[in-house]
Amino acid sequence: MTIDIRKVTVLGTGVLGSQIAFQTAFSGFDVTAYDINDDALKAASERFEKLAAIYKGEVNGAGGGKAEKTASAITLTSDLAQAVRDADLVIEAVPEVLSIKQDTYTKLGEHAPERTIFATNSSSLLPSAMVEFTGRPDRFLALHFANQVWKFNTAEVMGTPATDPKVYKAVVDFATDIGMVPIELHKEKAGYVLNSLLIPLLNAAMDLGANGYADPETVDKTWRIATGAPAGPFQILDIVGLTTPYNMLVNGDENGKHLAKWLQDNYISKGKLGIASGEGFYKYGK
Ligand code: NAD
Repeated sequence: MTIDIRKVTVLGTGVLGSQIAFQTAFSGFDVTAYDINDDALKAASERFEKLAAIYKGEVNGAGGGKAEKTASAITLTSDLAQAVRDADLVIEAVPEVLSIKQDTYTKLGEHAPERTIFATNSSSLLPSAMVEFTGRPDRFLALHFANQVWKFNTAEVMGTPATDPKVYKAVVDFATDIGMVPIELHKEKAGYVLNSLLIPLLNAAMDLGANGYADPETVDKTWRIATGAPAGPFQILDIVGLTTPYNMLVNGDENGKHLAKWLQDNYISKGKLGIASGEGFYKYGK
């Protein structure tokens, strides 16, 4: 029997949840978005309006009222039971805190129909850390999006040993149906594919800069010319924003702490946080 995904519920309407809900609705699916209270739902409506404006400017086919219609077509609720009672797929994008995720899956398992597939968008937690709380190990896996889903459209799909291959396949097909490029992992890996590649590259670049081997501009120029990549690691760091690597490094080993201090002393404390603040390793015009 093939698995049909038409009704999708997104849990958590923050940075990523709002984007996932919007992209899914924009692609013609029936979408419900859940968050914890009225304030969070109000913030969600505002995020959807902002996304509608962005889509109109940046995404093909978003004109003629489609972007606005997408925003208003998403059902918002703070009632979890109602949010998931008829869902084919639930995509969880609640805060990156294990206890919140586990609690969410415990409640979800009680309210969702047996057929419902659960997918976590967690960036740093493995699905096997949550699977025992879902009550449906065969219908649970990770579906990991990148920030700005309409533009950076990878969707990494990663199951646990217990994930049913038919469920995995259905989620890969769903990712394609909402305009993503599915990235299939055969087994669990912290950092998936992208961050397994990117984080060591960014750390190596910061090591060269912080220890005085070469300037950020030189590091980037080397990477661009010698590999043909459009951007170097410091340009990527400016896009990501410097506080994310800082937070990861400051809790790491001695070398990590050293890199974090370099970021803090030379950039973050001077308000140079990356593109979002107008300056990071490079200056950006308004
Ligand atoms: P966020 O803080 O922007 O949003 C979290 C949302 O969850 C908020 O709207 C909050 O009100 C809501 N929430 C809080 N407690 C909840 C609960 N008990 N049940 C349901 N909702 C609850 O976070 P985010 O950046 O959107 O991250 C969410 C998930 O997506 C995390 O697992 C993160 O690792 C992952 N992710 C984030 C990014 C990113 O760039 N921000 C990229 C890929 C994946």
